[in-house]
Amino acid sequence: MQTLIKPIADNFYRITLPMPFRLRHVHVYIVIHDSGIALFDTGINMADTFTKLGESLHAIGRSVTDIDRIYITHYHADHCGIAGGIKKASGAIIHTSAIGKMIRQHHNNHDAVASHVTSFYLRHGLSADVINHLLKLIRNFRRATIPYDIDRCLSAGNLYTLGDRSFEILPTPGHTRDHICYYFRDEGILLSGDHVLPDITPNLSPDLFNPDFRPLKSFLHALDGVKGLPVARVWPAHGDAFADLDARIEEIKAHHQERSEAILHALGSGPQNAFQLSMTVFGTDLPEFDKILALNETYVHLVELKREGKIEEANGEKQVLYTTG
Ligand SMILES: [Zn+2]
Repeated sequence: MQTLIKPIADNFYRITLPMPFRLRHVHVYIVIHDSGIALFDTGINMADTFTKLGESLHAIGRSVTDIDRIYITHYHADHCGIAGGIKKASGAIIHTSAIGKMIRQHHNNHDAVASHVTSFYLRHGLSADVINHLLKLIRNFRRATIPYDIDRCLSAGNLYTLGDRSFEILPTPGHTRDHICYYFRDEGILLSGDHVLPDITPNLSPDLFNPDFRPLKSFLHALDGVKGLPVARVWPAHGDAFADLDARIEEIKAHHQERSEAILHALGSGPQNAFQLSMTVFGTDLPEFDKILALNETYVHLVELKREGKIEEANGEKQVLYTTG
């Protein structure tokens, strides 16, 4: 992959960084301001990320040590993986949402993560083998994020400045509970992170530390929250920039409506656990990790179908089963 840095406005650039899996790339954004460079998201922790970030900055006569502020959209490795490394190199101040800070603390408690993961997925139909595989993945995946401390939490309603530019944060929980977008209202620039993507819908997963969090409901609500904003261009973390935010939001909402109907339809054949249902809806021929994503996606829909009174939940001793009542 060549060095990819693209100006999106005056002193505002998009940098494309590599990713070892799935989408193969993640976009981060920089704003050059009077005292240095503000970086929005960081890429995943691997040697190539540092190299490409350094090369991209070099192409505009800057370096990683110029980064004095880091702003994170959400606590996923491809978005915050090297924040700790950059901070070490440049002393950058790391900003996130207050919920982001809490989620980081939760995930530092490795034993609690393992016990929440095990009990949730056993109850929803995964075998002990697949759960062990998942726990191993989680342990390996920790290396994708360099540990870091959060210096400042950002609040909705505040206006933040970078030189003569200003931006606000838009809390957009759904993909994760801590997700925020960065909105440069005067310029009509929305850094949408993973909230609104041009080609895919972000995976929705339960927050195992907060069973009351409703990912799908929050996500749809947060889509409505950004709908209608004066936005000239949406700059996502994955995929190309696009102009028509509202049309994309309508597509994503329609997609989730269809998926809800497919899950309800699949349930017609009698009581099933969430994993069984996910195989009916998403197929059985999936890599192990995708099976877990499919189960998560199915589960977040089941939560809402139940609240809408369309399905019932039978809490067995070991497993949760769903029926159409
Ligand atoms: Zn993400």
